Formats: sequence, structure tokens, C-alpha cells
Amino acid sequence: MKLVLLGPPGAGKGTQSAAISARYNVPHISTGDILREAIKQGTELGKYAETFMSKGELVPDETIIGIVAERLKQPDAAKGFLFDGFPRTVAQAESLDKVLAESGNALDAVISLEVDEEEVVKRLSSRKVCADCGAISAAPADNNDKCKACGGKLYTRTDAQPDAIRTRLQVYRAQTEPLIAYYTNKGIIHPIQAEGTIEQVSDRISESLTA
Ligand code: ADP
Repeated sequence: MKLVLLGPPGAGKGTQSAAISARYNVPHISTGDILREAIKQGTELGKYAETFMSKGELVPDETIIGIVAERLKQPDAAKGFLFDGFPRTVAQAESLDKVLAESGNALDAVISLEVDEEEVVKRLSSRKVCADCGAISAAPADNNDKCKACGGKLYTRTDAQPDAIRTRLQVYRAQTEPLIAYYTNKGIIHPIQAEGTIEQVSDRISESLTA
């Protein structure tokens, strides 16, 4: 299965990805995670990406396209993949189509998580992420500093400040939302109502993909 998970920041892409990638036995590829790892390692890519990410802006297309092309060459991506946070612009989507077409492939489905903006702002400003395993915790509901999954330290992402959140949402509307029409035209979009419990959303995704 070659899948893309689309949706505004805070829609639950990271959370839903684990279940989807396990179900279809394909690697979960998050460009946000790849970039945050580069920042943590202090690489040139990390330093460059951080200047955009901390403000909530997009990292330039050519950088992202390069990262993705490299990642798709890894053997585990041969059987399929689940992209999370990519593509984020029409240029990235066109470039993905082109890379796949070179090996006679195409995307199977695009899952579009739909959630209203107030809910998104609420989720983004309160959540914390585990520094070790990347698990997302909805603070302040579970307001402590340890990850429930692995005991690692929880932190608030630097792009979770109100200004950066506003920018991320504006950038989403202007640059990423047009992808819904792009993939609707290709007939591969699966709109999913993303409010409710994690399990409810996950069930809706499975039902839509098997329908
Ligand atoms: P979220 O969906 O919660 O905003 P991500 O982890 O997907 O979180 O992305 C965090 C940041 O990383 C983005 O705001 C952007 O700066 C950068 N980024 C991640 N993926 C891409 C991409 N495909 N194109 C450009 N920038 C990206």
C-alpha cells in the first residue's frame, strides 16, 4: 500500500500513523520526524531546517523532495509506505507522483483527516511529545513529565507557541489544503472525520480503506 496521510497540524496524523503502518505493514515516514531528528543530531540539514520550523514555516520544497527521494530508496519502502506530513505543497505532490511513476507506481490512497480549527488550536497548544519515542501526550490531561509509553522525558515542541501555531495553520490553508482538490481529482481521496476517540478515528480509516 502506498498511502499519504493529509490533514492540518494537530489533526492526529502522528497518532493515527502507528496503527495504519502496522495494519498495512509499511514504514511510517514522517518528514517532521526526520527533520526533528536532524535538529537533534545537529547536522547541517537540521540547522537549516530549524530556521523555518521554529517559526512554523515550511522547509523549502527542494530540501524536502531530496530527503524523500533518499528515503524511498531504502529497501523497506519497496513494499509501500505511509507518508505523514508529506506532501505539503502541490510542487511536493507533483514531484512524488513523478518519482513513483519512474518505477511504474502510483499512490493507492490519500487519507484526509478533517477537524475544525478551534479543536486543532486547543490540541496543539496543550500537547507534549516524548523526546525518546516521539509518542504524543495530550497534556494537561496527563500532566506529568514522563512518557506513558517508554518513561522518556516529555517536552513542548518549539513550534507549539501561539504565534507559530497561527503560522502553521495559515501555511496549511494556503499551501497544503489545495492538495485535497489535487487528490480528489485523481479519485484517491478518503475524507475522514477526525474528531472522537483515537480508536473511533482509526476504525473510520480502516473502513474507508477497505470499502
Ligand atoms: P505538524 O503536522 O504538527 O505541523 P510536522 O511534524 O509534520 O507537524 O511538521 C513540523 C514542521 O516541519 C513543519 O511546520 C515544517 O516546518 C516542517 N516540515 C515537515 N514536513 C514538511 C514538508 N513536507 N514540507 C515542508 N516543511 C515540512
